[in-house]
Order: sequence, then structure tokens, then C-alpha cells
Amino acid sequence: MQRIGFIGLGIMGRPMCLNLLKAGFPLTVFNRTAERMAAVVAAGAHAAASPRAVAEQSDVVITMVTDSPDVEAVILSEDGVINGMSRDGIVIDMSTISPLVTRRIADRLTEKGVHLLDAPVSGGDAGAIAGTLAIMVGGDREVFATCLPIFQAMGKTITYVGGSGMGQTVKLCNQILVSVTNLAVCEAVAFAAGAGVDPLVMIEATRNGAAGSWQLANLGPKMVARDYAPGFMIDLQQKDLRLALEAAGEMRLPLPALSLVHQLFLSCQRNSEGREGTQALIKSLQRLSGPSES
Ligand code: NAP
Repeated sequence: MQRIGFIGLGIMGRPMCLNLLKAGFPLTVFNRTAERMAAVVAAGAHAAASPRAVAEQSDVVITMVTDSPDVEAVILSEDGVINGMSRDGIVIDMSTISPLVTRRIADRLTEKGVHLLDAPVSGGDAGAIAGTLAIMVGGDREVFATCLPIFQAMGKTITYVGGSGMGQTVKLCNQILVSVTNLAVCEAVAFAAGAGVDPLVMIEATRNGAAGSWQLANLGPKMVARDYAPGFMIDLQQKDLRLALEAAGEMRLPLPALSLVHQLFLSCQRNSEGREGTQALIKSLQRLSGPSES
């Protein structure tokens, strides 16, 4: 069985590690804030002192950190994965980052004979805990095939989508779909309430028809209940929308609906709602419409 290394034991990384251990993989871990490794070490993982030390003890190293510069830091720095990996080793970055940065990192690793797969995920912390993540994988197809049992330990829908960076590109498509649909749900809830229809009744009446969506079924009732606790935080969503808009800008591809959602989320961030769930998007609409006319 491949020896796995895992870097970044946050909300997502921790349960993903527990599922790898459950599947029987030998696991070495590193987290910048050392005390966050305790639960995974108690479950059987070995703690290492740096990303480089993780790589020295692993055949496959997974990174699950925040943003593009963080992935560059844990892989490419002096104490990074690149300086600990053996030739033909495999790095799998499961963070959501820029497709361009992914390709840059892949080129640097290739110079050392190390393979990179980009394998961002969707499904939130609930999917990470249940081992049912959707995983979108870019990179070499044969390398992907050798890593399939690793992905199967953490996810359910595992899709090879193309060459290096394509996993990140498909993840950004996922974020475009999720965000623009979220705004449609906000508008329908506001419209129903404004017109005197119980928005929960509206959701029940529409959710199984052509307008049905995960956002309508899950975020809609939270908007109605004014429950803004985060499933997925606005600040993290904004990072993904920024990545999508930057990549679209590089292609000179207008994404007007996504730009609008990004602007409305800025209003939420300005009003200290960045750590609330993405359903708090409806508050930006409420600020636009102001107090009731009656
Ligand atoms: P998180 O809870 O904030 O964890 C981030 C992890 O990255 C922490 O372990 C943190 O270490 C580490 N880290 C960040 N910058 C670092 C650096 N420069 N050097 C070393 N370690 C660093 O975030 P998360 O929710 O697990 O998300 C991780 C990735 O998954 C993100 O790219 C996110 O967009 C993506 N994602 C998240 C979700 C979700 O629902 N949360 C869903 C799909 C995809 P410390 O403990 O020291 O801070």
C-alpha cells in the first residue's frame, strides 16, 4: 500500500485523514499549527516536523491548505515537499487554487521527476466526514489511475477531467454554478415574501420541478429562518469567485452574473458577514431593497 503524507489538517483535511486511516493507508501528517494534529495522531497517524519531512516518508503527498500562495509555500519552499520527494513520487493538491499556479507548480515538480495531480473537492465538511466528496482530477491519466484507491477512500464521485490544472478549472465551474444559483434562490425568496407568499411554501412547490437545486432545497429554508451559520463561509466562497474571475479575465471571457454575485458578497464582507454562510447573500439584497414600503 502507498505511504501517504498529508499537509493541512483544517476543517476538510482532518476528516479526510481519518478516512485514509480507516481505509488502512499508512499516514504521515504535518500541520502548521501543531496542536491541530492531535486527533489524527490519536487515530494512528505519524506527525512530521515539516512538509519536507512528510515527503521524505511518503510515496504520495496530499496538500489541503487555503489558497495558491499557501500551496506554493508548502510545496516549493526550502522546507517544502519538493525537497523531500523521491523521483516518481506523486503530489496531489486537493486545495482550491488557481489553475495557472497549478501548472507552474507542476512544471517545477516535473523538473525533479515528481508528478502533480490537481484534485479539488466539492461536498463541504459533511462530505469530507462521510467520505462522499466529489473529486475533480487533472494531470496525467496513468498517475490518476494509480491514485484511484486513495481518492476512493475520501470521495464518491471521482472524475478524471483532463490535463494539469483542469481539475481546478472544473472546480471553478462548480463554484460558478453554485453561486449564480444561490442568487436566483435569494431573489425568489425575496420575491415570494414581498408578494405575500410564505417562502417555505414556495420552496416546497418548486423544489422538485425544473427549478429544483441543492441551493433551493438547502440554502432556501436557512434564508427564511434567518439561519446564517456557515456550511460554506462567504470569505472562502469569495476566494473561489476571485479565482474564477481572474481565470476568465485571462481568457477575456465575460462572466457578468458571477461578477454581480462577487459584488453582492463584497457588501456582505463590508458588513462583517464574511464568516457567515453563503445563504447570507440574501442580506445584500435586503440592503438594496431597503425597508418595506408599507
Ligand atoms: P481551513 O479549515 O481554514 O484549513 C486550512 C489549512 O491550511 C489549515 O490546516 C492551515 O494551517 C493550513 N495552511 C493555510 N495556509 C498555510 C500555509 N501558508 N502554510 C502551511 N499551512 C497552511 O480550510 P478548509 O475549509 O479545510 O479548506 C481547505 C481547502 O479546501 C481550501 O482551498 C478550500 O477552498 C477548499 N474547500 C473547502 C471546503 C469547505 O467546505 N470548507 C469545501 C470544498 C473545498 P493552520 O491550522 O496552521 O492554520
